[in-house]
Amino acid sequence: MDFALSDEQTAIFDMAKAFGDEFIAPHALQWEKDENIPKELWPRLAELGFGGLYVSEDSGGSGLSRLDATLVFEALSMACPSVAAFLSIHNMCAAMIDKNGSDALKEKYLERAMTMETFFSYCLTEPGSGSDAAALKTRADRTNEGFTLTGTKAFISGGGYSDAYVVMARTGDAGPKGISAVVVDDASDGLSFGGLEDKMGWRAQPTRQVQLDNCNIPSENLLGDEGQGFTYAMQGLNGGRLNIAACSLGAAQSALDKTLAYMAEREAFGKPINQFQALQFRLADMEIELQASRAFLRQAAWKLDTGAPDAMQHCAMAKKFVTEAGSRVVDGCLQLHGGYGYLADYGIEKLARDLRVHQILEGTNEIMRMIVARGMIT
Ligand SMILES: Cc1cc2nc3c(=O)[nH]c(=O)nc-3n(C[C@H](O)[C@H](O)[C@H](O)COP(=O)(O)OP(=O)(O)OC[C@H]3O[C@@H](n4cnc5c(N)ncnc54)[C@H](O)[C@@H]3O)c2cc1C
Repeated sequence: MDFALSDEQTAIFDMAKAFGDEFIAPHALQWEKDENIPKELWPRLAELGFGGLYVSEDSGGSGLSRLDATLVFEALSMACPSVAAFLSIHNMCAAMIDKNGSDALKEKYLERAMTMETFFSYCLTEPGSGSDAAALKTRADRTNEGFTLTGTKAFISGGGYSDAYVVMARTGDAGPKGISAVVVDDASDGLSFGGLEDKMGWRAQPTRQVQLDNCNIPSENLLGDEGQGFTYAMQGLNGGRLNIAACSLGAAQSALDKTLAYMAEREAFGKPINQFQALQFRLADMEIELQASRAFLRQAAWKLDTGAPDAMQHCAMAKKFVTEAGSRVVDGCLQLHGGYGYLADYGIEKLARDLRVHQILEGTNEIMRMIVARGMIT
């Protein structure tokens, strides 16, 4: 057993970290105020191969492992978890198309997705179904030319901003086997968007409802086989959960790094506050939480890469464990900054707000426990 990153993996992490330090971190606070990530950022990330991290090389992707991808998300989140998480969603969709799509669908979308001239949103949740995603009601009815979609998707990251939407919709009966996945272009007739959601965190990236009102798409936009959409959506989420956990990890690490620097400077009672043993113990506890998170996350990624039978449980466990540890660490860092932690300029309160949603989306942490428990009992 070898726990060390390879030279190549270290280089991937360093490259993502350097990009984040130079091109994301200096703008993160402004982008959150603007509620917009400039679209020019994406092709620049794609130049590093981040548009299709684990899309196969045959399809123009980087063909990296899921473990490699977690390194990218960890590193980019040290600059801004909201930006990194958006990239994760695009990657999740691109990989779904690469893995399951017809040659025609791959040809139509993947080339531009790899350069991130086209970026994707993932549309599963509806106003009436979140955790119980298989209860979704959006319909995709067969026509001579393809499908007509009707329904509403809620909470869509990148809604009204992305170029194409991977939509899970019902083509058959109730239940997961009646669900198919389709790709809907931004320009499609019958596609519209709700207002911008006013959120606690992830404010740099827009969240809107995606509304489909007799929206026609050609048959070639069916992703894979009819009736398999829910399976594809869940497969996508296994890796998505690793990425989200990595986003919590990177953001929490950056908060801890900032806190160490701050505590060396800040004085109280005649000495730097890092000299108080009570606070040193808190630093040690945070370090332990992050080291444990990192090891656990990478093990889960390795399980997914190697097709381990319990990979799904490990992705769920890692998502729950790391997202909660990440939020605890950031909250602890905020406390160690005193009043300054509460001010936007210090960058810690943003992380506390950004990370909170990682316990809710890509399956809530209650649903993660459900997945783990099911694996234990059956
Ligand atoms: C900022 C943001 C961005 C998002 N982006 C996307 C996106 O891009 N695409 C997308 O498809 N979705 C997205 N979502 C939606 C997200 O995935 C859902 O909010 C999430 O799955 C929970 O669904 P819900 O909000 O309907 O909560 P509900 O399912 O109504 O759950 C409410 C509460 O009940 C708990 N609960 C439900 N069922 C059980 C159970 N069986 N046992 C125990 N507890 C249970 C939940 O854990 C939760 O605490 C986003 C959400 C947010 C906030």
